[in-house]
Amino acid sequence: MVSRVIPVDPFDLVIFGGTGDLARGKILPALYRRWRAGQIPPGARVIGAARAAHDDESYRVLVGQVLAAADGGPDELAGFLRIVAYQRIDVAADAGWEALAARLADGAGRVTAYYFSVAPGLFGSLAARLQAHGLAGEGARVVVEKPFGNDLASARRLNRDLAAHFEESQIYRIDHYLGKETVQNLMAVRFGNMLFEPLWNSQYVDHIQITVAETVGVGGRGAYYDGAGAMRDMVQNHLMQLLCLIAMEPPARFAPDELRDEKLKVIRALDPVKPHHIVRGQYEQESCGYRAAVGNPRSRTESYIALRTHISNWRWAGTPFYLRTGKRLVARSSVINVMFKDAPHSIFGAEAGRHANVLSIRLQPNEGITLKVTIKEPGPGGMRLVDVPLDMSFAEALGAEEHDRPDAYERLIMDVIRGNQTLFMRGDEVEAAWAWTDPIIAGWEARGDVPKPYDSGSTGPGDAELLMQRDGRRWQGIKP
Ligand code: NAD
Repeated sequence: MVSRVIPVDPFDLVIFGGTGDLARGKILPALYRRWRAGQIPPGARVIGAARAAHDDESYRVLVGQVLAAADGGPDELAGFLRIVAYQRIDVAADAGWEALAARLADGAGRVTAYYFSVAPGLFGSLAARLQAHGLAGEGARVVVEKPFGNDLASARRLNRDLAAHFEESQIYRIDHYLGKETVQNLMAVRFGNMLFEPLWNSQYVDHIQITVAETVGVGGRGAYYDGAGAMRDMVQNHLMQLLCLIAMEPPARFAPDELRDEKLKVIRALDPVKPHHIVRGQYEQESCGYRAAVGNPRSRTESYIALRTHISNWRWAGTPFYLRTGKRLVARSSVINVMFKDAPHSIFGAEAGRHANVLSIRLQPNEGITLKVTIKEPGPGGMRLVDVPLDMSFAEALGAEEHDRPDAYERLIMDVIRGNQTLFMRGDEVEAAWAWTDPIIAGWEARGDVPKPYDSGSTGPGDAELLMQRDGRRWQGIKP
């Protein structure tokens, strides 16, 4: 099944921070892949903008090096580099702005997207300068990355800084989890089929598990990460978004505000988390444990968190949602498990065994959906029941390998150009998520909570197992 590629109209995309990690690692490769797919027309322009002393030619050399390892022949790369340019600029001062405005004047009337791939501390000044130089008009869109604030107060400040110069309809807050194929499929499965929605509530669902496990440690982000931790870095944004999509009511239409209104209602219905429903962990490793990796021997920041929360509304009252995420775990795996209740009565007797249905939505790796159903164990010897997976691997079902499908950044950047905000977070959503997160963090800071150590390569601290066991449940395995 080959996906249709609809070329977009010529546009300008200015990447502020065009020489940085994010630009090199994600944004430029994503644009190149869309170029190769034929979605970006030759009249488009990608303008790197940063403080480094490049000109168009030397920036093209840099971009060429960045993309050298990507698929594609020399002609394709040369074609892409022709639409690439560079503007030296200081987003916190006046240097370079007149020249940028002059370049962009050539493209008047087209969509112009500004990717804020710089530190969030620069967002306010960047937004103000765009407007001061007449670059914040109707066709302008701004793309901002996480972290969107460090708490509710800073998120509000960022929202205010952006709202002073741009309409909400011009602001695209990226959470790349929302760009994943399976996340959108989650909505297709829920709202495109009759089968699941009638069962999608506390009457039939025992509980829901959301796991985002990483094998990597903090890498080169030690200083940032130690100031944030798993709660701010993963739960407040990625896991919260997944929770919203799994729990929200069906929106009337698959349209930006309809969808975001429903997500917001979920966040606002979340109960505060009780201290004994949270487990924080920090990985230990002989060569370089968490504290050594961040260079802070007394760090109390969590590299792992597991928690239980509830949504106080008609659909979900009484159904716990268990969230966990961590670094240096046994496998890289992001999965949502919808754990259905047992059948109310077994006609086969206790010896046949009982197995509840589980719907697993795998986000990475091997995107796909599995439904565990109970059947009779084949062969003679009476009626014994076993689980078998009904497996829908997207790679097989859609006939496309994972690497042939657009990744999250490709999809999201093209959505910005097309003006589709459905998969981006609205300002009030982000603030509501911080309003839920802040008291949790304040609570453990007030208590002087120290994260529990866990072995690198494990499934996390033992207390996370206890969190489940106390409720008579257990985590599904973390499998690659
Ligand atoms: P980086 O430090 O690698 O790059 C920063 C870029 O900003 C550089 O191009 C630098 O020249 C430019 N810059 C800094 N000050 C400037 C100024 N005054 N004027 C003009 N340009 C200036 O950072 P990064 O890792 O690319 O991250 C960029 C943003 O994206 C940050 O907000 C970060 O939190 C976020 N982010 C990054 C990643 C990632 O994978 N690197 C992932 C998620 C979010």
